[in-house]
Amino acid sequence: MVSVAESAAAAAAARERQPPPETHHTRAKRFYKSRAWRALRYRVLAENARRNGGVARCELCGRSRRDGAVLHGDHVVPLSKDWGRRLDPTNVQVFCESCNLGKSNRDTTDFRPATEPVEPERVESAGDSGLAGEHALAGTFSSEVTEHE
Ligand SMILES: [Zn+2]
Repeated sequence: MVSVAESAAAAAAARERQPPPETHHTRAKRFYKSRAWRALRYRVLAENARRNGGVARCELCGRSRRDGAVLHGDHVVPLSKDWGRRLDPTNVQVFCESCNLGKSNRDTTDFRPATEPVEPERVESAGDSGLAGEHALAGTFSSEVTEHE
């Protein structure tokens, strides 16, 4: 039989074993391996190729895979700035690796031609705390995830 004190100690020990909270880096790394992201990246590349006569091209320098470019799905507003828009199709553009690596996370220029109506940017009124805003976004986001599945 387990005493109350022992089970309380076991519960405390279990809490001790909890991994530390996930960093942005590991969270982003996990995200880029997700099926939802790969599906969105494919969709954005396909849409870009449709605009460019069947060949996906970097929005910035115009190079394609045929020119030796490695194409990335780039978040216009980086994940580090707005995690809630990680699967927002209006927030993803095609960049080649060198253009993408040259971009700082302060640059949020959307280089895609403005042919399609782009949703106005969501403005969160959560203030500077960040955390509250992120939770609010995560909340609105869960329905979008199932939509993409
Ligand atoms: Zn490029």
